[in-house]
Amino acid sequence: MAGEPQDDCLFCKIVAGQIPATIVRETETTVAFRDINPQAPTHVLVIPKAHYQDAAALAAGAPELAADVLRETRAVADQEKLDSYRTIFNTGTGAGQTVWHTHAHVLGGRGLEWPPG
Ligand code: C5P
Repeated sequence: MAGEPQDDCLFCKIVAGQIPATIVRETETTVAFRDINPQAPTHVLVIPKAHYQDAAALAAGAPELAADVLRETRAVADQEKLDSYRTIFNTGTGAGQTVWHTHAHVLGGRGLEWPPG
């Protein structure tokens, strides 16, 4: 059920402390941790603690929580001293989504090209 922890979800396990992660920020509702395969000098993932499979499902099911995640992307950028940064929600396999628990990528610390690949 949306919002409930899923036994087979990697990021639910990070929230539960069952899988290690380098956590850089935590709030009552969110966790931010360094991506294990960084694509930029700063590459942090911001996730809601509750399980929603993608950004649209989060916005539909818990809009206040979606706002928490967006607020935290800014907080991560400030903490990492990024003037410019990119926030990405990959949605669907064709867009590169590999983990089915909403996560915002926060990328910065180098020039970022547009359009992305
Ligand atoms: O958007 P996508 O679903 O591909 O992003 C998942 C991200 O989770 C990847 O960038 C991957 O490197 C990261 N990851 C992680 N820690 C894990 C497993 C995956 O940071 N234990």
